[in-house]
Amino acid sequence: MHLEPVIHCQNQNCQEQIRLPYPTPPDITAGQPDWPLGEWTEAFVCLHCGHVYDYSEQNIHWAVFQSPGPSQPQSNKAVWCARFECVHADCEPRRKWHVEMDSDKDEPYVREWLDGKRASGLCPKGHEIIPLRLAGKVYRLWSF
Ligand SMILES: [Zn+2]
Ligand SMILES: [Zn+2]
Repeated sequence: MHLEPVIHCQNQNCQEQIRLPYPTPPDITAGQPDWPLGEWTEAFVCLHCGHVYDYSEQNIHWAVFQSPGPSQPQSNKAVWCARFECVHADCEPRRKWHVEMDSDKDEPYVREWLDGKRASGLCPKGHEIIPLRLAGKVYRLWSF
């Protein structure tokens, strides 16, 4: 059994559970670990509805799972990370998005999914991210 952090999609019509990647899952008997620490904020794309939101510490819940979390060995899910630029020239340069995919997906698939208007959200200044302009590598967290 694994005690692991989860978030729920902030789209009220979706509320899909998204398991957070966690490099070393804590022992369930050790109680809730002090993670993430401090001012943790990351943007996650919901694979189900495609909406992107920022999540921070107060959005995290802890739950018990039978299966290993995303990006763990033997997991059937992996978390990918992509950087994008807002198309508005005067805008914040870059932002990082995370998305959880089935672990058999490869980089071209993830890139195409993110590029294919399946994902939508706002840049840090509130511009609609369409079209998405990916900047640089799309990479998998902790590939084993
Ligand atoms: Zn969703
Ligand atoms: Zn912008």
